[in-house]
Amino acid sequence: MSKVSFLSLADKLRTEGDAYRVLEEMRWGDQPICPHCGSVRKHYFLTPANGASRKTRTGSTSERRVWKCADCRKQFTVLVGTIFHGSKIPLRIWLLVIFDACSAKNGISAREVERKYGLTPKSAWFLMHRLREAMKREPIAGLLSGRVIVDETWYGGTPKNRHGHKRTKKDRLQGATDKTPIVALVSRETGEVRSQAIPNVTAATLKPILQANINTKRTHLHTDSGMQYQSLAEPFAAHSTVDHRAGEYVRQDVTTNHAESYFAQLKRSLDGTFHHVSREHLHRYLAEFDFRYTTCKLSDVERIDMLVSRVGGRRLMYREPAGA
Ligand SMILES: [Zn+2]
Repeated sequence: MSKVSFLSLADKLRTEGDAYRVLEEMRWGDQPICPHCGSVRKHYFLTPANGASRKTRTGSTSERRVWKCADCRKQFTVLVGTIFHGSKIPLRIWLLVIFDACSAKNGISAREVERKYGLTPKSAWFLMHRLREAMKREPIAGLLSGRVIVDETWYGGTPKNRHGHKRTKKDRLQGATDKTPIVALVSRETGEVRSQAIPNVTAATLKPILQANINTKRTHLHTDSGMQYQSLAEPFAAHSTVDHRAGEYVRQDVTTNHAESYFAQLKRSLDGTFHHVSREHLHRYLAEFDFRYTTCKLSDVERIDMLVSRVGGRRLMYREPAGA
């Protein structure tokens, strides 16, 4: 997609038929791909009887563009197998929100989507969570290597800031914190970030995360001087530290600054744009921020292309609410 077509996109999306055409172009180019059998051929376009729309089972009209596979003879649209599939939200709105989400530095909230596009709160929330599924990195993403920073931060309130009735007796007795630790792995070579919420920052918790994401033999690990990293560093090719407690964040080539700036941007957005995120949903926002941070050197258009390339083949965690 060219810059010009992005700028004139809102103009292009006057009807649902337009939105289908734009998505077809982005996902398929000029050759439709059958989602049932994978066949790429000159499939048949099923032109509606009146040229523009077709009747649905419920009696309303639809501008869905329907194709028929030249091989398996099944019908399909460009939505089959994507995060848009089965949604009653107009495809035009999905696309416009994708463009908004990919061009806003701190992301956009469900509340903004609700106001801007006149969706119900439930529909806006559903739409944003489906988009976050597309933002998750590929399940078969390769291991990080080279110089990799591992660092953690804490997110959320503390019991003393909560209203009295929300504090449990256990909180009071133990002075417990309800802050959630977040660990981030940052590749200095590619800028890719992988973060996740974790129950605690012990070596036992961090070890499987590092193993699942890093090629240790080919990695120079950069961390702060926390004790847990001393035991974790053993399989790595090299390990260098900076001492956060002494206020040290850079030592020659060793730094954890990339993780610090990721955390700073994350917290600004969680507090500013999303007005606090519950622990239950935190991992979805982290997926969104990993996507945004990892693609920060791309142009808006390249970021949109990457996101659209990921709308298919996702495990859909969210069902659309009834009456949306
Ligand atoms: Zn087919």
